[in-house]
Amino acid sequence: MISGVLMISLIYWMCGLMVVFPPCAAVAAGFTIEGLLDQWLGSESITFIQYHMRRTAVTCILHSMLLPGYVVTLMMTKPWIFDFLDVHYHSQASTLLLLASLLPSAVVGWIVSNWWSSGWHKHPLATSLVVYAPNNSPDAWKSVAADINTEYRRVDKFISGVSSVYRVVATDNWLMKVTTYRVQLIHLRDAVLSLEGSHITQGPVRATPTPAQQLTINVMSVREGVPAFCIRLSSVEFGELELKAVNPIVNARQIVIQQSLSDLFLETFTKTIRLNPTATPPSSKERQLCFGCMQTPANVSLERRCNATGSSTGCQECRCRPMWCVSCLGKWFASRQDQHHPESWLASRAPCPTCRSTFCLLDVSLIA
Ligand SMILES: [Zn+2]
Ligand SMILES: [Zn+2]
Ligand SMILES: [Zn+2]
Repeated sequence: MISGVLMISLIYWMCGLMVVFPPCAAVAAGFTIEGLLDQWLGSESITFIQYHMRRTAVTCILHSMLLPGYVVTLMMTKPWIFDFLDVHYHSQASTLLLLASLLPSAVVGWIVSNWWSSGWHKHPLATSLVVYAPNNSPDAWKSVAADINTEYRRVDKFISGVSSVYRVVATDNWLMKVTTYRVQLIHLRDAVLSLEGSHITQGPVRATPTPAQQLTINVMSVREGVPAFCIRLSSVEFGELELKAVNPIVNARQIVIQQSLSDLFLETFTKTIRLNPTATPPSSKERQLCFGCMQTPANVSLERRCNATGSSTGCQECRCRPMWCVSCLGKWFASRQDQHHPESWLASRAPCPTCRSTFCLLDVSLIA
């Protein structure tokens, strides 16, 4: 009899754990609170702040119902437990137990109904937005929320992580940490970010062949009334966050940040091609912007040179005008290589991104 109770408890709380920390497969299949209630929650990409106010409210309620749900499940499947309690302890023991288990849900329900009836301005997220609001009216948070929603719609935002259990979002002006029950945010102009620690995790074998470095960053605000918080992200994403940060990120502990394989290769790639003879700039027109990033001028050209050493190689003549910058060509070269054997990359070849003729590192010239 007892083993039956243990079995039911184990199954119930395993399912409960999956509700609280949905596994990747459940997230992908949409079997999460957000996935099942997306009609009511609205669109995260259009109304980011309002979406997360509703999401945190409904998550608090549903998670608080796990306990009474457990008691009810036991009542339905093993009614003898409650008969036993009623007979041996107190005539109303089972009713009292059920009421006690409902207590957290009642408290959460009361808090959430308060948020709801106040037009959400009592929600902790609205309270944290009020600090940045232009005036003291109860609806002042809405103008800040509208700014954040607009920024979140832009394609160049930084997002680390995909689950609602833990995500770091950086838009042009805001840094936000989204967790199951709350969203913490800070204006990037006020934010002082400092690297606090790092640890190495072994990622899923196929996804990341090399171990990933996880960084812990402390976020503090120079503005009063904004509590500090910590964010975690992988070292590969650190560069992207650094681009969004307004103030330089403090690294007082001198933590060595591991770069991604492609970043490391890019350094070596650039160093190697600097040893090659430089090319003369195209005489006719002004130098064009790189076709890949549209930010830096195209500064490399491909000239078959490796043949001069006398060895027979598979390289081909490329007659393209300079269209790429070193960094885009390096990234392209890395992306064409065997990702599990980075040691072979420097001696390998890749097709020209424009005409597909094969080139090696000896054939790449920087434009003087
Ligand atoms: Zn480029
Ligand atoms: Zn070409
Ligand atoms: Zn070559």
